[in-house]
Amino acid sequence: MARFWEEFWKREQEFFDSRKEEFRHGTSFVAVSSIAEQYYCEYKLENEFALGEVPTEAKDTGTALHDELMPTEAISKEEFAELVGRKEPSLAVLGVWGSAGGLKVIGTPDHVIWSEGRPLWVVELKTTRGDPTPLWEDQENQARIYGLLLERMGFDCSQLQLAVVRLKSGELGADEKKRWIAEVSGALLEVKTTWLEVRHPGRMKVHLLKHEPTKAEKAVASKAGYWLGEREATSSSSIGKCRACEYCSSCPKSLFRP
Ligand code: SF4
Repeated sequence: MARFWEEFWKREQEFFDSRKEEFRHGTSFVAVSSIAEQYYCEYKLENEFALGEVPTEAKDTGTALHDELMPTEAISKEEFAELVGRKEPSLAVLGVWGSAGGLKVIGTPDHVIWSEGRPLWVVELKTTRGDPTPLWEDQENQARIYGLLLERMGFDCSQLQLAVVRLKSGELGADEKKRWIAEVSGALLEVKTTWLEVRHPGRMKVHLLKHEPTKAEKAVASKAGYWLGEREATSSSSIGKCRACEYCSSCPKSLFRP
């Protein structure tokens, strides 16, 4: 296993050393979250690069809740390798990277459960003020692409599964927040996610997905043309999306004017 990690860190270094500003907006690497955003509205990326990120209450609340529910502490590479190599399931996240669809893609999943050096679960947390029941295309593809990258990085993903946990923000008490990640991880490992939904009726939905690299590769490839400069950005055809968008007042493509 020591050999695996030695080669792994070397390949990681080579990947990042290969940076050149070859993609749209002069980027060297494309974030998984940006590809996911393309599934909501590609023009949002144009606005983000032109106008900068616009803070919103929903984003701030979501980030604060992520930090509360999934607190992390930095560990060394050696500690990481030791932790995820244990048989007993362990919780540890790492930056993911790899080539897909002609792009160099990077990202950081919210949460990964490991055993014996294999990722067992990739978990994405999505907070909402509305109904957590639907699973949106951007959320599904984000989790799928994380799975694909873990596989491209050389991990054995034969037992990998994906979960997108949609949670109504502002509905958990302090104690519930403290034990949330252990509770969700335990439920996934014991295949008892329905129990979670029963415990949090109408407030939480756990969407389970099979790890299917081909679907993930297609999800990247269908959006790659934008980054490769082969086409211009598409924009939303949904007034509802534009109404909810933080750029609606300045976006030239907006279908909604406040
Ligand atoms: S306002 Fe509409 S078209 Fe413009 S970025 Fe937002 S969702 Fe896309």
